Amino acid sequence: MSFTLAIVGRPNVGKSTLFNRLVGKRLALVDDTPGVTRDLREGDARLGDLRFVVIDSAGLELAEDDSLQGRMRRLTERAVEEADVCLFLIDARVGVTPADEIFADILRKKNAHVILAANKAEGNAGAAGALEAWNLGLGEPIALSAEHGQGLDDLYDALQPLADGFAAKNVAQMPEVDVDLPEDLEDEDAPIRMPTEARPLQLAVIGRPNAGKSTLINKILGEDRLLTGPEAGITRDAISVSKTFMGTPMRIWDTAGMRKKARVSDKLEKLSVADGLRAVRFAEVVVVLLDVNIPFEVQDLRIADFAETEGRAVVVAANKWDLEEEKTEKLKELRENFERLLPQLRGAPLVTVSAKTGKGLDRLHNAIMKAYEVWNRRISTAKLNNWLGAMTEAHPPPAPGGRRIKLRYITQAKTRPPGFVIKATHTDQIPESYSRYLVNGLRADFDMPGTPIRIYFRDQG
Ligand code: GDP
Ligand code: GDP
Repeated sequence: MSFTLAIVGRPNVGKSTLFNRLVGKRLALVDDTPGVTRDLREGDARLGDLRFVVIDSAGLELAEDDSLQGRMRRLTERAVEEADVCLFLIDARVGVTPADEIFADILRKKNAHVILAANKAEGNAGAAGALEAWNLGLGEPIALSAEHGQGLDDLYDALQPLADGFAAKNVAQMPEVDVDLPEDLEDEDAPIRMPTEARPLQLAVIGRPNAGKSTLINKILGEDRLLTGPEAGITRDAISVSKTFMGTPMRIWDTAGMRKKARVSDKLEKLSVADGLRAVRFAEVVVVLLDVNIPFEVQDLRIADFAETEGRAVVVAANKWDLEEEKTEKLKELRENFERLLPQLRGAPLVTVSAKTGKGLDRLHNAIMKAYEVWNRRISTAKLNNWLGAMTEAHPPPAPGGRRIKLRYITQAKTRPPGFVIKATHTDQIPESYSRYLVNGLRADFDMPGTPIRIYFRDQG
């Protein structure tokens, strides 16, 4: 029933303060002598009825013999390796800094199980910083005050469901892909970490006014109520609720409820579009809800395009299907328009639903899960390089000025959404059309519909 929690984050965010609070006695002496390097410290922590081991990775700032970044990275990586779960602290008063971004990258790369917390958020001081923390893409931040002991109940809520699971060390760890080592080939695709109670799938339902967002969300919630907010640590324009939808823990972001209130004024109504777009930032999967009577209007296209640009997994759902008489014809027409108007989302699931009757909700759930899975997928380097060989053979890259572009090596550098690095010669001369050929190939050959795919070319002699 025990697990190990590592507190990570840049210097001065309050790691030691939190460590001391969790450990409960001043076991962790803060050594103020410059040049004395503290290393990882461990202590027995208690929080409510939870007992666990906590690791503090503070002390990084005292390193003199090494670049701060290099040392930060190594210590954090070690802490991550030793821990079952990482508590990533940022300073809510300062907001997200470039150093925080570096940490977020390390954690993502290590595929650590992360709980994000915005510290120094006593009172309302940290509301903006906590909201900003969403942009790190590590899920919902907890607002904490290590110094004043606030937000510990939320921390408890995040840790409690994990306590059992971690004992068995059953958290799927994805192998790290090192883009600098071509010979480091992985044989297996990495397993996908599915949503859990503690890390629910973040879902946003967006669409034009009257598309049926509120109706759909209420149907999913299984009761006729609008979402209420605010959640702890979130400003009140971001409203969400947690719900298990057909067996999958989800957190559903809503802007529709707010818009209802805003109907009194046109000015506020316009604001709500921006709210919808913001909900996209919080989401992992975005459901673009169309009114089947007026599908693919400019506003729908803009929203869907924004979701793609932001790198979210996208599902398109045509609502009010109960009103449709010529279902087969209409579906064909929808698909054609979809392909034509949103080529950047090629292959994204298109499902029909009736929010009113609840028909098609199972299809919607399946499409969401598929999109989420693809968005999280990591393909082995070995498979990718076999694939690249076949692709370049079928269609060699051009040879501008008589010098053939050589694509030497491909690896998947990130997930959520999938991003690939290709080492090549003359990368500045690779035409957009060739890049598109590769993206479409990846999508088709590795079955990755409904997710943005990014390719980054890097020069190699
Ligand atoms: P670390 O080196 O990143 O582990 O950070 P420390 O624990 O040394 O804290 C850095 C500074 O932030 C200290 O002056 C703490 O007193 C202060 N601090 C820590 N937690 C809080 C908090 O919740 N609120 C406020 N206002 N200050 C805090
Ligand atoms: P929102 O503005 O996107 O939140 O849309 P609402 O949920 O308020 O729905 C707008 C209107 O469409 C309401 O009158 C709903 O009853 C209706 N509506 C929503 N979903 C359906 C559906 O699946 N079928 C039918 N026939 N009407 C629906």
